[in-house]
Amino acid sequence: MEHFKPTDYKLQSLCCGAVFEDTDWELSCPHDHEPALIRAVYDNKQIEVNTNLPGLYKFANWMPVERILDGSGSPVTYKSAGFAKELGLENLFITFNGYWPEKGAHMQTGTFKECEAYSVCARKNKRHDKIMVVASAGNTSRAFAKVCSENKIPLLLCVPEDNLSSMWFETEPDSCVKLVATEKGTDYFDAIHLSNIACEMDLFYPEGGAKNVARRDGMGLTVVSAVTTIGRIPDYYFQAVGSGTGAIAAWEANLRFLEDGRFGNNKMKLMVSQNEPFVPIKDAWEARSRDMLPFDDNDARKQVETVNAKVLTNRRPPYSLKGGLFDALSDTNGEVLSATNEDAENAAQLFLETEGNDVTPAAAIAVATLIDVVKTGKVDKKATVMLNITGGGTEKFKQEHELSG
Ligand SMILES: [Zn+2]
Repeated sequence: MEHFKPTDYKLQSLCCGAVFEDTDWELSCPHDHEPALIRAVYDNKQIEVNTNLPGLYKFANWMPVERILDGSGSPVTYKSAGFAKELGLENLFITFNGYWPEKGAHMQTGTFKECEAYSVCARKNKRHDKIMVVASAGNTSRAFAKVCSENKIPLLLCVPEDNLSSMWFETEPDSCVKLVATEKGTDYFDAIHLSNIACEMDLFYPEGGAKNVARRDGMGLTVVSAVTTIGRIPDYYFQAVGSGTGAIAAWEANLRFLEDGRFGNNKMKLMVSQNEPFVPIKDAWEARSRDMLPFDDNDARKQVETVNAKVLTNRRPPYSLKGGLFDALSDTNGEVLSATNEDAENAAQLFLETEGNDVTPAAAIAVATLIDVVKTGKVDKKATVMLNITGGGTEKFKQEHELSG
């Protein structure tokens, strides 16, 4: 590998515009303002894709990282033939995150959570003697466990017990990775609560979730892959969302490309989706409410139990805060769609038959909503559509490898 020179960047608060250095794992504005995201602002306004760097680090120009870690895969974007024909779309581009070696996709844990993990774990960090804490509904934990295990980064994972079936590994994680589970009948929000308790102790520090610029800019690499492959900013962006962090990241990447200037001047319409009956983001957005609408936590937990795509069941998404999902949807004239478990299963089957690989239950929700809006004529057949397959090839991977865990 050639010598790696990290990109220069500053951080900027979306509350007051303050610009500051990334001195110690900053997650929020130093001035204690209202809840707002901070963003990384890179010196390189025009991205240079460096294919000499491994995996997703070829996009390191727009990542707040100080080092390169081994074992990453990159999102892969290609023009769809089979599925596009089925739908009658002329310019459907699929950004595939997962396992599909024939297409150059090598994310072994099968989802775009690897983009987050390889970015976060390579972020500028002085706390190497402490333990990072990550709360997750499953896939994120698996991705972080892999990266931390391979690179000996101390990690504590907080996961709901009901989601432990998603914690499979090709090799047993290293002892630097520990896991605690919240009891049966609890969900992702309970896992977050547990992680907050751990972070009150000096030994631990929070990864930060949506507030971590490295996490969002890692997820945004799906759009970086798409735009640099297609040669322009797409018209539509389809993705299933739990927290909506991926959609915020997609919007932020879009804004960077506007500054870059070489890929057009449009904003992609965010077409994000949830798994019925648990659709709190859809409810809030349809009411054009900046606040999430009130709901009963116990009813929500029951709805969550019936949902196949458990990773989409965040009860406290980064929706209301400045720079969050409400702002992303507002700025892009976005829509929140939804699909049932059954719609998603049919969509996944159609994808498998026409494209040749399996997709995760979450990605299948996005596929189902794309099918639906095309049927109803909402999307122009000539439009450039990006479908973010946030996870796939996990069945393929399991068939081709022996697993432990
Ligand atoms: Zn501020």
